[in-house]
Amino acid sequence: MTHLHHKPMPQSGVDQEEILSQLDAFKSDDPEYKNGKVWSLVYYIDETHQQLLKDSYFKYSSENGLNPTAFKSLKKMENDIIGATASILNGTDEVCGVVTSGGTESCLLAVKTYRDMAKDKRRVKKPEMIIPETAHVAWYKASDYFGVKIRQVPLDNNLVPDLKKLKKMINRNTVMILASAPEYPHGTIDPIEAMGEIAQEKNIPLHVDACVGGFILPFLEMNGETLPKWDYRVPGVTSISADIHKYGYAAKGASTITYRNLNYLRYQMFVQPDWSGGVFASSALLGTRPGGAYAGAWAALQYFGIDGYKKLADETIQAVNKLKKGITGIPELEIMGTPQGPLFAYQSRDTAVNIFAVGDQMDLMGWKVNKNQKPDGLHAMVTAQHLKVVDQYLADLKQAVETVKANPELAKQGGAATYGMMAHVPLRGMVKNKVLEMYSELYRAGGGSIDLSAQAADTNETAPTSIVDKALAWYVNRQTKKQQNKSS
Ligand SMILES: *Cc1c(COP(=O)(O)O)cnc(C)c1O
Repeated sequence: MTHLHHKPMPQSGVDQEEILSQLDAFKSDDPEYKNGKVWSLVYYIDETHQQLLKDSYFKYSSENGLNPTAFKSLKKMENDIIGATASILNGTDEVCGVVTSGGTESCLLAVKTYRDMAKDKRRVKKPEMIIPETAHVAWYKASDYFGVKIRQVPLDNNLVPDLKKLKKMINRNTVMILASAPEYPHGTIDPIEAMGEIAQEKNIPLHVDACVGGFILPFLEMNGETLPKWDYRVPGVTSISADIHKYGYAAKGASTITYRNLNYLRYQMFVQPDWSGGVFASSALLGTRPGGAYAGAWAALQYFGIDGYKKLADETIQAVNKLKKGITGIPELEIMGTPQGPLFAYQSRDTAVNIFAVGDQMDLMGWKVNKNQKPDGLHAMVTAQHLKVVDQYLADLKQAVETVKANPELAKQGGAATYGMMAHVPLRGMVKNKVLEMYSELYRAGGGSIDLSAQAADTNETAPTSIVDKALAWYVNRQTKKQQNKSS
């Protein structure tokens, strides 16, 4: 590893124009999201909308939501945002909540709230939460951070959590049950009405993770789509997380967590009466809370309104339906489970077609396609913006499948080879360590960097597209060398 040096602070300040032009120049290696070839990272519509978010964010970039009584402007925006969120989620006037920095913060907070509530009300000392296998990774992070053990509900063949098994997992240490609307990997809405009945019968809180669905499923329903009930209309649901910076098309840094009433939310609060800096109270994870994110979120809700979001939802589902129809029309592929929202995944139904090799071909054609594992598949998180690229995507996908079929060796290269190795369970611990090592390397003093293309150059293969892919590729090479040594 090369030794890195810190880039020192400039001695004297840099000219403003120079600063701004450098900021623009930094973007040159970033993904180009305006052409609709990037999925799940960015929710882009057009320049008018983008400019409104920038202007709104900028107006409040100094204001601080740390103390909700200081900047009344921010508390007002927060009240409006929570009110609008509660109303689209069919909550009563008792529904209350907090604007957070993102889905992860909302999920972390739910776990903290229910852990503390169970401790207070039932003296639970070894807290557990029950989550379906498809729960977002933020829930695993919450478990790790807050010491709440996970009990994982397996899925049936249609990717639906097995509720009989779920019921058996409930015990006196259970502090919460999680359902998703929809789950991130395949876009399936968990059977929330049935889960709500179980939760009510056992008197356990049920959180619905609608981080991705919260600002689109309600509008799909208003447009006349038939969807199962998953929001506050389901009596057992006690809280919901919904991100505004996904399908609410807000500036980054805006999500919500709402609770059925204040009896739950109060366990989210933190108070330290003895701090030398004064008595301190806080309603969420962050200390200083960025006013710009509130303003950006508030502005997005005002800009679109119900009619605007209904139109975006409609365009999104048109794109989803065209994609699903096109993929179903490719005999080697099939949609996984029964996705009902804006995202879905597909897999191969032909042993001669390695789905990850198809993904590699798509990446070569400029699509940044995300991979699922267990079961293996490719992921598509669709926005209104993707409507204009649907035909191209399907044409490229058809081509990718043909290429992979005609070149079986592609299944042993690139992402296909690396992800294929992940099926070997004993390797997971080593992969975890390697990923940890490479991720840590990125944060080395001086700002480490990892050349993703270096290895591709030695092996003449497709460059890995992420650190994780690179770590996996390292593992595959190592295993291959071991095999070669053995046989020689
Ligand atoms: C995106 C997402 C999260 C996490 O949200 P971030 O804003 O990325 O932190 C949590 N749950 C689900 C279902 C999501 O799709």
